[in-house]
Amino acid sequence: MGVEEIGHDPLSGIGYREILNNLQDGVYIADTSRRVVFWNDAATRLTGFARDEAMGRLCPEEILGHVDSQGQPMLGEDCLLMAVLADGQPRSADAYIHHLSGHRVPVSLKTAPITDQDGRITGVVEVLTDASMARALREQIDELSRLAYIDPLTSLPNRRYAETQLEGRLHELKRYSRSFGVFFADVDSFKAVNDLYGHDKGDEVLAMVASTLTASLRTSDMVARWGGEEFVAVLSQADEQGLRRCAERARALVANSGIPGGPTNHRISVTVSIGATLARPDDTVDSLIARADSLMYESKQAGRDAITLG
Ligand code: GH3
Ligand code: MG
Ligand code: MG
Repeated sequence: MGVEEIGHDPLSGIGYREILNNLQDGVYIADTSRRVVFWNDAATRLTGFARDEAMGRLCPEEILGHVDSQGQPMLGEDCLLMAVLADGQPRSADAYIHHLSGHRVPVSLKTAPITDQDGRITGVVEVLTDASMARALREQIDELSRLAYIDPLTSLPNRRYAETQLEGRLHELKRYSRSFGVFFADVDSFKAVNDLYGHDKGDEVLAMVASTLTASLRTSDMVARWGGEEFVAVLSQADEQGLRRCAERARALVANSGIPGGPTNHRISVTVSIGATLARPDDTVDSLIARADSLMYESKQAGRDAITLG
C-alpha cells in the first residue's frame, strides 16, 4: 500500500447524502418545522414513498403516521420528532409506520437532534430500522426465556435460574472476594394446608409466601422457588449480622401474612423454617445449598418458625 493511500480521506469528494443513501436503514431529516428535507433510498424501500413525494411533507403525520407498539398514534407529546426538537434529547422507540400501499411496517426508531456549531437545534434526523424479523425473533426469545426461567405459579425465578445465578456469584466470590449469603426457606407443615383447604388454596398460599419473601428483600437480592414449598434467597454483600437480620425479617413477615380462606373465611397463615449461611470460596452450588438446607432442618427440629445460621 502506497504512502498516499494511507492518508487518503475516504470522505473526500463525497457528500453525506451519498453515504446516507447507501445505508440499510431508512434515514430522513426534518427541519425545525418538521418538514422533510432529506429522504434516503432505504426510507423509500421501507415506506413506499419516493423521495419526491416525501420531500417537503410534514412528518410524521402526513405520510408516515407512526403508531406505537400498542397501535396508538404517536401524535402531540408522543411524537418523537417534536419531543427531540423541544429538548434536544435523542430518543428511541418501537413503532409501526404506514406504508404507501396501506399496511403497517414494524420499525425501531432512533431520533436525534441536529445542531449547529453553537449548539442550536437546526433539525432532527430519524433512523428507521426494519424490525419485522428482529421483532418476531426477540419476542420468541423473550417468551422462551420466560418459560425457561420463571415459575408460573409464583412468578419467581425458578431453580434453574437460581442455580445459574449462584454459579455466577460463586465465581465472583472466588475471583473478586465479593461475599454473599443465601437462605433456604421451607414452609412449615404445608401438607396440612393442602389437606385442610385444598390444593388450590395451597397454591394461593405459596404465591403469597413468594410475594412476602420478595418484599422482605432488597432490590439487589433475589429469591427463587427452589421447588414445592421451598425457596432460596441470594443476598448481596451480606455479612453474618446482615444475613441474620434478613432471614429474621423474612421469617417474621411470612408469619404475619395471610390470605382469606377456609369455611369461615378466616385468615390462612403459614410459617417458614429458614437456614442461612454465607458462601465460602470453596463452595459449589450443591455444597452451599446442602449446608443451608441442613441448617433449615435444624430450625424444623427446634420447633419450626425459626431461623438457624451457620
Ligand atoms: P415440614 O414442616 O416438615 O416441612 O412439613 P411439610 O408438610 O411442609 O412437608 P412435606 O415435605 O411433607 O410436604 C410438603 C407439601 O407441599 C407436600 C406437597 O403436596 C406440597 N406441595 C408441593 N408443591 C406444591 C404446590 O405447587 N402446590 C401445592 N398446593 N402444594 C404443594
Ligand atoms: Mg419441603
Ligand atoms: Mg415443608
